[in-house]
Amino acid sequence: QRVGYAIVGLGHLSLDEILPAFGESKTSKVVALVSGSPEKMQKVAKQYGVKPENCYSYQNYDRLRDNKEVQVIYIVLPNSMHAEYTIRGAQAGKHILCEKPMATSAADCQAMIDACKKADRKLMVAYRIQYEPNNRMIRQLVQDKKFGTVKFIEAVNAQNSANPQHWRHIKALAGGGALPDIGLYCLNTVRYLLGEEPTEVFAWQYSTPGDARFREVEEFVSWQMKFPSGIYASCSTHYGVHESRRYRVHAERGWMEAAPAFSYNGIRVQTSHAEGKIEHTDQPKLAEKNQFATEMDHFSECILQNKQPFTPGEEGLQDQRIMEAIYQSAREGKPVKLTEIKQKDAFR
Ligand code: NAD
Repeated sequence: QRVGYAIVGLGHLSLDEILPAFGESKTSKVVALVSGSPEKMQKVAKQYGVKPENCYSYQNYDRLRDNKEVQVIYIVLPNSMHAEYTIRGAQAGKHILCEKPMATSAADCQAMIDACKKADRKLMVAYRIQYEPNNRMIRQLVQDKKFGTVKFIEAVNAQNSANPQHWRHIKALAGGGALPDIGLYCLNTVRYLLGEEPTEVFAWQYSTPGDARFREVEEFVSWQMKFPSGIYASCSTHYGVHESRRYRVHAERGWMEAAPAFSYNGIRVQTSHAEGKIEHTDQPKLAEKNQFATEMDHFSECILQNKQPFTPGEEGLQDQRIMEAIYQSAREGKPVKLTEIKQKDAFR
């Protein structure tokens, strides 16, 4: 039994990763498309065997309500559009899988959660790293205290973003620059590894003057997070340097590292620990799984078995609130306490 998906937005992520991933999925199938480009959609529909009558525009999107083949709507649009299409999708009676970042404000995240609750539909944020086996393995090592108590974490997600005209550089569509797009991986993965919520953040932000890419959104953010157990995380994200996606978790008797950590594939884990005077280095490797197929199948199973997804809307809201505190700290030049942040158990 496969759950039917409608893919909304046929940009890079949909065309290069999500649509091909259905070929590796066990419980999900693509049955409908939504796009503003009818010609492109026709070609894609033919390629993936989607019926012409299951192709929608943004205007007649709400007619998905009448399509029994569609159970899930997967939103793969620019960030500021996630809220509207999630809310309309839930009102059309569909479960929603929404790309990260969930939205561009905590108020929008809350409205999305409320709309899905009201319509009695499930909402999941597509945090693929939380379903990826190598990152899951590190989380297990952290939580089992394999190398003793974790003391601090360093995380970096950086890339050289090229096109100043792209929506990622327009604040009204993206919400921000490097932080919500790629820095979010550092934030979300640290929270995932620790299973704790930060209580305080302290941040810096910088954009190269005169660089057309950073007229509206930021180039660089560096921030620290303090956790209740005494763990500190130091994270950085950059839109103007060569690609680098890695983290290292430092514990009393060893460290665990993923480098690259956040890529679509090729994630590599390394650990190092001391046994007496001897230093051991390991490179444990788990079989690769298509991350998009894995996350879609998780959501499909939640629908088939009526379970709560591992990364529900509340997870996206949590990150959004923390990102807003990070921006506030950078603006004010002082630490910001996170009084509204609930501990994770509240929704897991
Ligand atoms: P993209 O620019 O390649 O695609 C965006 C699509 O939205 C295009 O088809 C575009 O035509 C359409 N669109 C509709 N209205 C638009 C408007 N007003 N302005 C601009 N485009 C409009 O972007 P993408 O890289 O596919 O990203 C889409 C979403 O997926 C974003 O939220 C992004 O953060 C997320 N994403 C997630 C991952 C991941 O690993 N999970 C990776 C890349 C992107």
